[in-house]
Amino acid sequence: MQVFEKLAEYRYEQLVFCHDKATGLRAIIAIHDTTLGPALGGCRMWPYTTEDEAIVDVLRLARGMTYKAAASGLNLGGGKSVVFGDPHRDKSEALFRSFGRYIETLGGRYIVAEDVGTSTEDANFIRVETSHVVGVDVTRGGSGDPSPFTALGVRQGMRACAEEVFGTASLEGRTVAVQGLGHVGYHLCRLLSEEGARLIVTDLHPEVVKQAAREFGAKPVEPDEILVMPCDILAPCAMGAIVNDGTLPKLRCSIIAGSANNILHEASHGEELAKRGILYAPDYVINAGGLINVADELEGYNERRATRRVMRIYDSVKSIIAISKRDGVPTNVAADTLALERIAAISSMERLHTGHPYGQLSRRRETL
Ligand code: NAD
Repeated sequence: MQVFEKLAEYRYEQLVFCHDKATGLRAIIAIHDTTLGPALGGCRMWPYTTEDEAIVDVLRLARGMTYKAAASGLNLGGGKSVVFGDPHRDKSEALFRSFGRYIETLGGRYIVAEDVGTSTEDANFIRVETSHVVGVDVTRGGSGDPSPFTALGVRQGMRACAEEVFGTASLEGRTVAVQGLGHVGYHLCRLLSEEGARLIVTDLHPEVVKQAAREFGAKPVEPDEILVMPCDILAPCAMGAIVNDGTLPKLRCSIIAGSANNILHEASHGEELAKRGILYAPDYVINAGGLINVADELEGYNERRATRRVMRIYDSVKSIIAISKRDGVPTNVAADTLALERIAAISSMERLHTGHPYGQLSRRRETL
């Protein structure tokens, strides 16, 4: 792979290779863009079989974090890291402390959090070596389980969409089909039920479906039925790519708003949804509640403040809908525009402050 070419493609700032023979650490940190602030993003531990595979993954994920933070109004940039290894076999205190020392050398340009394959315990080990870590456990000033905040953000995004489509943000009496009753989906059902929404639910685990039926009066359906149920709002809270060529013609909802990542199989499916009159709440904006919550640790975690910030996902989704109308583009494109406009605005502001540490880097991004 031509690494510099790859970095130039989407204007990545930095790619850091970390190697420690003593602990067996092989890790890569990618910093995409720090215009808005230090790059924050999780550390993924995965048994990558090739270096190229890991580089492609870490770059893609880091860039995604830039957009997510920018569109969420956070003063953070985008970054991510990957550690080579099997999370069930290769973890040790020494490994994560070694990684923590590498993060420390970046002086706060990158702040690490949890991701697939890493846990609060790993974050605690990293914390011994550096303060540039969030998602440590509650006893160390951490913010705890992000899922209730993710669910709250999804509810806020739903309200913004409901206002646009139905003329009222209230979800009372709306029918919401929830796919996946895991950490986020179940919390979301509780919030929606409290608001008087009617629920249709499914999961691969029948017990949790029964529990939701009992607790919220939800109507249970089979996993392969949920996407075709007539409803006001479809909330994908399980896996990605559920909007694809196969499912698109069968959808019978007015709004799609859920926590799952990469809901659209391809970006072009956003256009297809718009053509069919289905309003799509872009995934990385509506599911940012967990990120907003964990980022609050950087100021000394305050749950009330974090909650207030998560509530603003309503405003972010409203802004995206406004940009979508202004530019005549689908909402997934409008979300990217919102992120890039914010970065461009701050970037040009930074140019006025010649002393800004990232002034040089920002200048490069005038055309973002
Ligand atoms: P989870 O693993 O706790 O729950 C997922 C649930 O979906 C499980 O109960 C699983 O049985 C169910 N499921 C899987 N495939 C299904 C299918 N085909 N049909 C019906 N149900 C199915 O995960 P989570 O933490 O609740 O996250 C849900 C989604 O939201 C994921 O895509 C995740 O990446 C995304 N997300 C989560 C957070 C968070 O704070 N947890 C933040 C941002 C994004």
